[in-house]
Amino acid sequence: MTNIVEKLTAALGEDAVISGTEIDRATSYWDQTPTQAVALLRPKTTTDVSTALRICYDNHQPVVTQGGMTNCVQSADAQPEEVILSLERINTIESIDKAGATATVGAGTVLQTLQEACLQQGLLFPLDLGARGSCTIGGNAATNAGGINVLRFGMARHLILGMEVVLADGTVLSSMNQMLKNNAGYDLKQLFIGSEGTLGIITRLVVKLSPKPKTCYTALVALNSFDHVITLLQQARRDLTDTLSAFEVMWGHYFKGVTGATGHRAPLAREHPYYILLQAEGGDPDTDEDRFNRVLESCFEAGCIVDAVIPKSEAERVALWDIRENFEPILHIKPIFLYDISLPIVAMNDYVDSVETALKTQWPSCEFYVLGHIADGNLHFFIRPNVSCEDLHFSCDEIVYGLLKDCGGSVSAEHGIGTEKIAWLGHSRTQEELKIMALLKRTLDSRNILNRGRVLPVDDNTNG
Ligand SMILES: Cc1cc2nc3c(=O)[nH]c(=O)nc-3n(C[C@H](O)[C@H](O)[C@H](O)COP(=O)(O)OP(=O)(O)OC[C@H]3O[C@@H](n4cnc5c(N)ncnc54)[C@H](O)[C@@H]3O)c2cc1C
Repeated sequence: MTNIVEKLTAALGEDAVISGTEIDRATSYWDQTPTQAVALLRPKTTTDVSTALRICYDNHQPVVTQGGMTNCVQSADAQPEEVILSLERINTIESIDKAGATATVGAGTVLQTLQEACLQQGLLFPLDLGARGSCTIGGNAATNAGGINVLRFGMARHLILGMEVVLADGTVLSSMNQMLKNNAGYDLKQLFIGSEGTLGIITRLVVKLSPKPKTCYTALVALNSFDHVITLLQQARRDLTDTLSAFEVMWGHYFKGVTGATGHRAPLAREHPYYILLQAEGGDPDTDEDRFNRVLESCFEAGCIVDAVIPKSEAERVALWDIRENFEPILHIKPIFLYDISLPIVAMNDYVDSVETALKTQWPSCEFYVLGHIADGNLHFFIRPNVSCEDLHFSCDEIVYGLLKDCGGSVSAEHGIGTEKIAWLGHSRTQEELKIMALLKRTLDSRNILNRGRVLPVDDNTNG
């Protein structure tokens, strides 16, 4: 009897199929141990993906889809019984339409590659995140990625106009819409955005572009209280209006943790309780700088900002962003747990204080680092309990998510659920919502072959 690897090889060709023992790749960006799987598929076209899925579907073969493997919730980590389907060879930028301000791209295109190609044409693809050099547009769509420009341009969902998806049984659903407006029936692409590969495999996309900004002004500022953080945010939103593109918060212990002798150079004193990295990008070189400086000056005069640094070169600007985006200096000792929650901004400071108190009560030498996209109501925590005991991650989750429920927050602002947060999905979704999610999964993937056990528990979404 022909086994699944032989069937896939016969259909896709030898260069598209690497069998289990020959696979040479890490589990993920976060876990460099070698992955184990039945086979690794590297299709080149939507038709190849369709052929592969039809064979897997007929054989009840579970499949995990991989883009850049940078997700933070173990959703693309392969299980030994799964076939990996990687989009890495569906990576062509098919066209950039300057008049319509759209780009048509293969799902395996690396985000930074698309950003750079657009900039060369005088256009901006504004989705941007720290993993830009490795993550793919397909992965961004599948996770509804957020990142640093959400307050101005929205999440991945707001930037996607069209999509081609292959369903579990191999059906190709092509909806490569290029228009801003299209109300012809249900907008099916929305189902797949943020579904973490559980409903279909995205192979091609049409994305929305903006004009390339002519100016960019950045500042790192220090503040003494959370009220001042909110005041600065309100003023920046009001006075910088459409140019404000990023407003990133770092609590003092994060800033201190990633700077200093073993980290980044600290451009400001390391003792302040809050730091904000803000950026404005505009189209008017005559007025944008003045507007930006006026906001900083008036907040300085009002005592809201206590210290600030403005980069004098592109290298200095990049170095400031590195403090926010490159958290390697605090990752050296494991385990350290990453959280990605959202909640109303007004509730943030009390919530963070209550989490810190609960963590320190349970584990007195616990390290707790807070940063995030505060203007979107989104905070990230890195928590290192500094103890070893069973179920440590779950105990930490209980503290973070237990206190979050009272604030009406979400267990995932942008990273998704993956396998890591399945137990907590019910904190942020009602039973009725969960039932509809399971129904959709059964409808689109009745044999439960796609990303089984991600987002929804296996029992909820299985028929096969
Ligand atoms: C340093 C760093 C910074 C980050 N910052 C942010 C941030 O600011 N905001 C943010 O939202 N995320 C952030 N992330 C998380 C991560 O980069 C995003 O989730 C990203 O969108 C994942 O893209 P990927 O190509 O790596 O997808 P993968 O990790 O490969 O996959 C993610 C999920 O999507 C599925 N998938 C991948 N490709 C497809 C496809 N073509 N069709 C269907 N399903 C698919 C996978 O099966 C998996 O479930 C960060 C990660 C790192 C390492």
